[in-house]
Amino acid sequence: MNVRDSEHIIAELEDKEDYRLTDDSSEADLILINTCSVREKPVSKLFSEIGVFNKHKKDGAKIGVCGCSASHLGKDIFKRAPEVNFVLGARNVSKITKAIKSDKFISVDIDYDESNYAFSEFRNNQYKAFVNISIGCDKKCTYCIVPHTRGDEISIPAELIINEARKAAKNGAKEIFLLGQNVNNYGRRFSDKAHQKMDFSDLLDMVSEIDEVRRIRFTSPHPLHMDDKFLEVFAKNPKVCKSMHMPLQSGSTRLLEKMKRGYSKEWFLNRALKLRSMVPDASISTDIIVGFPGESDEDFEDTLDVMKKVKFEQIFSFKYSPRPLTKAAEFTNQVDPQVASQRLQRLQDLQEKILDEISLTKKDKEYKVYFEEKRNNGLLAGKSDNNALVQVEGKDEWLGMIKTVRITNPKRLSMYGEVI
Ligand code: SAH
Ligand code: SF4
Repeated sequence: MNVRDSEHIIAELEDKEDYRLTDDSSEADLILINTCSVREKPVSKLFSEIGVFNKHKKDGAKIGVCGCSASHLGKDIFKRAPEVNFVLGARNVSKITKAIKSDKFISVDIDYDESNYAFSEFRNNQYKAFVNISIGCDKKCTYCIVPHTRGDEISIPAELIINEARKAAKNGAKEIFLLGQNVNNYGRRFSDKAHQKMDFSDLLDMVSEIDEVRRIRFTSPHPLHMDDKFLEVFAKNPKVCKSMHMPLQSGSTRLLEKMKRGYSKEWFLNRALKLRSMVPDASISTDIIVGFPGESDEDFEDTLDVMKKVKFEQIFSFKYSPRPLTKAAEFTNQVDPQVASQRLQRLQDLQEKILDEISLTKKDKEYKVYFEEKRNNGLLAGKSDNNALVQVEGKDEWLGMIKTVRITNPKRLSMYGEVI
């Protein structure tokens, strides 16, 4: 989502203010830092980065801080780093052209509604287009700062989404990547109350009706909202790529309750295994937090148990990081950081074993691969329909094409093969 916010900022500045991108910050008239605040580490990096940019910037160049840390730290950023010229929160991106024009501009309003704003066009990747479908998040996961930095959830009108997807697809993006904190909750609230009633499954069908769109991906869906209708559209719509992100967070029902995730271990397993039975080739990825306050050995074993049962193709695992404004940061039973580190290591070791097992089954399999990139190693790289990274020796003109690849050498993080 931050990547897309950055694209929006660049688009507005290029289109309306005649700025151009540069790779050299010492040449820049404007330096923007787009920030995350989900965990503490990137926040602490922010101020050292501001210092480095300030030292090397040219005279008169401005520095702006955008994104979730801008939302949550607000004017404290000016106090801690007086060299910053403006602060623009994650839900105020459309105000970038105003922000650059007045000194010490600040806008971090998390009630600001930009769901109807049609941003100018800019994309880093010509083959794949990110398209936002909602802003904010209505959930109250007790560890998570996002609702406090991006505000309540509002769905973007379907017409805006379809127009944007159509334009991107006409410009060569065969893959549309729909983005939101909670995509399968789409349609719960529009700012225009007269908007037609619809849900995420309906939206997937609408996007798939655009001829030039060949692939649709999305992130993040919420396990709680994975009803049968959603799984069926996922399984049956041939344009919907067969990879599902199912953020587990923890395998312990007791902990999931403390996290306020709204589902149990059993529900999660039921949905994941149903998905596996409906689409045997689908890949499932997940996010897991270890060391959430009160996590016992038994809770952690539950997480490992879900991993063994589902065999995720990809896991993003994090040590719990207490965040300001969140309920869990006040829980008194914080886990010893060393214990959390050991658990993280055990989890990652288990995942490596699972991945080795999975990759053994991939040899000689055939995948449809959409080539998007030429790598430094000279190979063409792309993603299979089920989201595996595949690399082949090939011709540059294959970039932007979908080809069938037979896997000759499957590795944990990338598969190597040949186009047939
Ligand atoms: N809306 C998405 C998540 C966005 S945040 C969802 O619900 O899946 C991305 C991931 O960061 C989360 O899934 C979670 O695993 C992790 N995360 C969020 N807050 C965290 C915290 N306080 N400490 C550690 N990891 C956290
Ligand atoms: Fe955070 Fe939960 Fe919303 Fe995801 S669903 S952004 S984890 S509050």
